Amino acid sequence: MKKLGLGCMRLPLTDPENPARVDIPQVIRMVDLFLAHGFTYFDTAYMYHSFTSENIVKEVLTSRYPRDQYVLTTKMPTMRLKEKGDLDRIFDEQLANCGVSYFDYYLLHNLNTTHYEIAQRLDAFAFIRQKKQAGQVRKIGFSYHDGPELLDRILTEHPYMDVVQLQINYLDWDSVGIQSRKCYEVARRHGKDVIVMEPVKGGALANVPEDVARLFAQAAPEMSAASWAIRFAASLDGVCMVLSGMSNMEQLVDNISYMEHFQPLSEAEREVIAQAVSWINASTAIPCTGCNYCTDGCPVKIPIPTYFSLYNTEMQSMRRGFSVQQVYYENYAKNHSKASACMECGQCEAQCPQHLPVIQWLKKVAEVLEE
Ligand code: SF4
Ligand code: SF4
Repeated sequence: MKKLGLGCMRLPLTDPENPARVDIPQVIRMVDLFLAHGFTYFDTAYMYHSFTSENIVKEVLTSRYPRDQYVLTTKMPTMRLKEKGDLDRIFDEQLANCGVSYFDYYLLHNLNTTHYEIAQRLDAFAFIRQKKQAGQVRKIGFSYHDGPELLDRILTEHPYMDVVQLQINYLDWDSVGIQSRKCYEVARRHGKDVIVMEPVKGGALANVPEDVARLFAQAAPEMSAASWAIRFAASLDGVCMVLSGMSNMEQLVDNISYMEHFQPLSEAEREVIAQAVSWINASTAIPCTGCNYCTDGCPVKIPIPTYFSLYNTEMQSMRRGFSVQQVYYENYAKNHSKASACMECGQCEAQCPQHLPVIQWLKKVAEVLEE
């Protein structure tokens, strides 16, 4: 299977203000071209495009092609589950929405501390396992937006999972907030295949700062900035699929150009990316090094460097509506304090070797990441 999946979360729209108004004729042309070049993997979810993405998949794909010519993934909306009966009801609805009798991959959507508790309480893991045994699902797993410790716990408690879907891109790889590398390493330690989401960070790595764009162009004049990001993810051992939320035909054609006959990054190309990361990070808003000297004495236990990292990432992103940084922020805030809980005691500023005005920056964090 070629390692590029068409993510059905950011499809082209006829009305940019309304995610349900998808440009169906353009998506049909995209699907046809994608399949014609030997790609087969499609990723949707119950909630994408204001709950219409699965129906769109039926219209543009499953009603037009034989079942053995594509690989289809969808996800159980863990965050919407209230009682056990919801699992069967939603699963049956999804089969009907997509117009199929089975899913190739079926994932529990967006596990984090809260959603894992819901999944445990309602036996969602046993449910998807039983669907696999019944042949209605080929492979099972979950998509994940939280830290490496919880991921380790989930995979220890549910060792029969086939795949894990993680946010991985070269900028989040060593970020304190997203911790892509650590999550990837946990998944691999448990022997899991990894599906990568957000390889281009919601489009941010397709629009890199000018000096980074020049760096990429010097190294490979014919390649787009996005190509570096997608190939970074696809070059990792154990990554079986890289999803790209393609929003128009141009992006699809670009993705196909380097993923049809995929070549992993060379050592020299890895060095170019390392340089790009250092330049992008150097231009970030809060120059926090993540040393953690400030956190121990905080009376309200604010995870200061983690919030700063998420803020920096948010500032680097070309935010369009949904913000994954906000999702991570809310996850952290459930187990710690929010940035707005700062009592302005000044302990952290006295500890900070970078002499950062932590209190002022936390106010900016609250402004940007709190609802
Ligand atoms: S100033 Fe705010 S963030 Fe810093 S230690 Fe005091 S309460 Fe915590
Ligand atoms: S002490 Fe300063 S540099 Fe270190 S983590 Fe805290 S804010 Fe960041």
